[in-house]
Amino acid sequence: MKFLKPLRYLVVLGLALAAAGGLPARGQDEGPAPPASRPLIVDFLDVGQGDSILIRSPEGKVALIDAGPTRDATAAHLKSRGIDSVDIAILTHHHLDHFGGMERVVREFKPKYFVVTGSSHTTKSFLKVLEAVRDQGITSIEPTAKPRRIELGSVLLTILPQPPYSTDEENDNSIGVRLDYGGFSVLMTGDSEETERATWVSKNPDLLRECTVLKLAHHGSRNGTDEGLLDLVRPEIAVASLATGNSYGHPHSETVSLLRREGIPLLRTDQRGTVTIVSNGESWNLVKPGLAKRKSSRGSGDDRVATASGREGRTAAKPSRSSRTKSGWR
Ligand SMILES: [Zn+2]
Repeated sequence: MKFLKPLRYLVVLGLALAAAGGLPARGQDEGPAPPASRPLIVDFLDVGQGDSILIRSPEGKVALIDAGPTRDATAAHLKSRGIDSVDIAILTHHHLDHFGGMERVVREFKPKYFVVTGSSHTTKSFLKVLEAVRDQGITSIEPTAKPRRIELGSVLLTILPQPPYSTDEENDNSIGVRLDYGGFSVLMTGDSEETERATWVSKNPDLLRECTVLKLAHHGSRNGTDEGLLDLVRPEIAVASLATGNSYGHPHSETVSLLRREGIPLLRTDQRGTVTIVSNGESWNLVKPGLAKRKSSRGSGDDRVATASGREGRTAAKPSRSSRTKSGWR
């Protein structure tokens, strides 16, 4: 991947180095890293009308993307999972439905790193989050015009290049994050709307291409998903984070219809509660009763989540995930 070659793009935040099997830390004669005994766990937390995504690496490293609309929901989820500290917190943009619980997370779970944009959109309550970050002495990182790689144990988080900040649409200032763990991947782009997504699609298509899971932008709004993006991402499954009976009408019927046409199943937190997906880097599971194990590698037979006609033919032409891994993606 061309964009990954220059070392200056590589931001290793020290999260991975001490962990078992940390990729850059292994010596030449140690041989390949042993398979991790624990899976990657991604929880799309049920926090009502907002986003909060919890990522736990096989080594037990913790990343949190957004903290929902309320003060307590995300913190309660973290506690119920026995989490008492967060390695990295990312706030996609400066809207309350994403930062509502972040001040509490920052003060109680003390992330080592905090990723936030320098967008000029501010409110009193948002400034309190920044205050908490400063009070705790947390290292704050602002995305730049170049992709940044963050190693969370053996999980790679890529912060998408930040387009120039918009002064009239804060959603278009969303931080985009791509997660890769072996052949499993997740794309999360906050509440990005057409303008920001079009920039990524035209300038950084490789960072969007072929993700196992797509977290729909903007809670399934019609302005959060489009065909051009889906054609690049080609997700096996989509997840939307939203509240039952929300006043915005999310998810919009246009989004639901588009996904249906593309044969992409949609999982909604308003219908299912927290959506939990685990992966060992080769296969992935939806952690809900009654769902069969499904593999992530494409074109390998009966492992497809999507069953809509027309989709199989399209996926058959895709490059295999193993070849991508071998090509130096990680
Ligand atoms: Zn939102």
